[in-house]
Amino acid sequence: ATGCDYRGRFAPSPTGALHFGSLVAALGSWLRARSQGGRWLLRIEDLDPPREIAGAAAGQIATLAAFGMESDEAVVWQHTRGEAYAAALAALSARGLAFPCWCSRSDLARSDGLHRGACLAAPDPARTPAWRARVPAATIAFDDGVAGRCVQQLQDEVGDFVLRRVEGYFAYQLAVVVDDAWQGVSEVVRGADLLDSTPRQIWLQRELGLPTPAYVHLPLALGPDGRKLSKQDRALPVDAAEPLPALRAALRFLGLPPALCASAGSVAALLRAAVPAFDLAALAHAAKTNVQLHHGNA
Ligand code: GLU
Repeated sequence: ATGCDYRGRFAPSPTGALHFGSLVAALGSWLRARSQGGRWLLRIEDLDPPREIAGAAAGQIATLAAFGMESDEAVVWQHTRGEAYAAALAALSARGLAFPCWCSRSDLARSDGLHRGACLAAPDPARTPAWRARVPAATIAFDDGVAGRCVQQLQDEVGDFVLRRVEGYFAYQLAVVVDDAWQGVSEVVRGADLLDSTPRQIWLQRELGLPTPAYVHLPLALGPDGRKLSKQDRALPVDAAEPLPALRAALRFLGLPPALCASAGSVAALLRAAVPAFDLAALAHAAKTNVQLHHGNA
């Protein structure tokens, strides 16, 4: 999709300050949307109250604005979307594709931590169950805009994954599928750490009768020595008061020419220069994604 049809998004979880890894994901999705003449949407994935840090979402929104990125439409907050997730879960359950499950982590340790088919724990009416997807012995394949052909055997590699947790919270996999469709997202640009979630999401889209967007998974941020940034480095907060150094580093990471990254003296001018120069093909060529899926032969 190009022009007005293109709709991209950035979907942070409000579990801390915006860090360099999430700046790269935000900037990649924003540059891609702008270079396609499309819209860029922001969604706060606040599905997990115990992991949420008070004020983190507001901080992320303000930091993104300091880096020149503002949602083209009202920000969507997942904590307001419970009814839509419940409806999707009910639709799956009505078709036998979701089931209540009392298996504990230690139960599943006996089968590589994966739930495949039959439950190992008996139903216990005294406890709230989790809800899991009943995955088929199906292979899901898709062509990623950076990583190329990706293939995953759902039952063997993922198992019956959680849709709603014991604590009652809806799982990321379900919510992201419902909301990407609801927001009309035509292409998802995000970090390669989510590459192996994508087949689950495509399967859910098919079973829920929702369209599948295009997918682009950006390489995980590398350090100056070309090695993958440590979790600690990747987690360093970016400074909204002084955005230019981190913005230049993120643009370089996304494959923009060094001269361009060093040029303009303001956020707005840098972004203006970067939009026409952003090139997914060059990024894909340079990408050394840390891929856990099989490539090439499906
Ligand atoms: N909320 C997820 C995260 O912060 C990203 C979800 C997505 O982009 O699909 O890791």
